[in-house]
Amino acid sequence: MNDFEGLRAVVTGGASGIGLAAARLLTTRGARVAVLDVAPDVPEPLLGYRCDVSSTPEVERAVTEAATTLGGIDVLVNNAGIGAQGDVTTNNDAEWHRVLDVNVVGMARVTRAALPHLRESSSAAVVNTCSIAAWQGLPNRVLYSASKGAVMAMTLAMATDHLDDGIRVNCVCPGTADTPWVGRLLDSAADPAAERAALAARQPMGRLVTADEVAGAIAYLASPGSSSTTGTALAVDGGMYGLRPRPR
Ligand code: NAD
Repeated sequence: MNDFEGLRAVVTGGASGIGLAAARLLTTRGARVAVLDVAPDVPEPLLGYRCDVSSTPEVERAVTEAATTLGGIDVLVNNAGIGAQGDVTTNNDAEWHRVLDVNVVGMARVTRAALPHLRESSSAAVVNTCSIAAWQGLPNRVLYSASKGAVMAMTLAMATDHLDDGIRVNCVCPGTADTPWVGRLLDSAADPAAERAALAARQPMGRLVTADEVAGAIAYLASPGSSSTTGTALAVDGGMYGLRPRPR
C-alpha cells in the first residue's frame, strides 16, 4: 500500500518502541519521515533530529530543519512520552512538572511549531499517542494518567480549533504494549520472565499489544483513508478497556 506516497511526516519519540514502529510503517507506505528524539539514532531512510520536546528552542529548531529537508509537513505523530509510577503521595512537584512538560506541553510545543506547515498541506493529520490510562483508573499511575487525560482533552480541543484549517487531530490509546519502555519495567522486577507472564495473563487477550499493532492504528489515523475522522480516540489495547479480564 502506497497511501503515504509524497507525504512528509514528523514522528516524535520515533527512535524506539511505538514511535519507531510508526516511523517505519509510514516509510514503508511511501512517506518521508523525520524522527525527533532525545536519542535520534535511527535506521535509514529515517531522518533523525536531536530534540527534547520539553525545550521550546530545540523543538522550533528541529521542526524547522525537518520541514526544510522534507519540503513541508503533512503528518505529525506526537508520540514522545515518559512514565511515572505512584499514588498521589509519591511524586514531588518537580516530577509533576517534568512529566506534564514532556507528555502534555511537549505535544503542544511540537504542534505549535508544525502548524504553519500543516496548514499548507492538503492532507494534514496529527496523531497523538495517548493511553488507556486516560480512560481507566490504572493502579499507581496518578501522574501518568493525569498527563494522558490531558492529551485526550487536548486532542479534542485541537481537532475543533483546526477543523477549518483542514487539519485532522486524533489519538491512539495503547494498552500494555511490548516496547523497550515496558521491557525496562519488567527487567527491574525480581523475576522478569515471571513478571512478563503474569502481565500477559492479566490482559483479556492473554498477551501484550505489539508496537506494530499500535503503529497500524497511527497510520490509519494519519492516512488519507481516515479523511472523515477527527477528534476521536482509537484504543489498541487487546480489549483492556472494554472487556473484563478473563478468569485464568
Ligand atoms: P519507548 O521508551 O520505547 O520510546 C519512547 C521514545 O521517546 C524514546 O525513543 C525516547 O528517547 C523518546 N523520548 C523520551 N523523552 C523524550 C523527550 N523529552 N523528547 C523527545 N523524545 C523523547 O516508549 P514506548 O512504549 O514506545 O512509548 C511511546 C508512547 O506510547 C509514549 O507516549 C507512551 O506514554 C505511550 N504509551 C505506551 C504504552 C506501553 O505500554 N508501551 C502504553 C500506552 C501509551
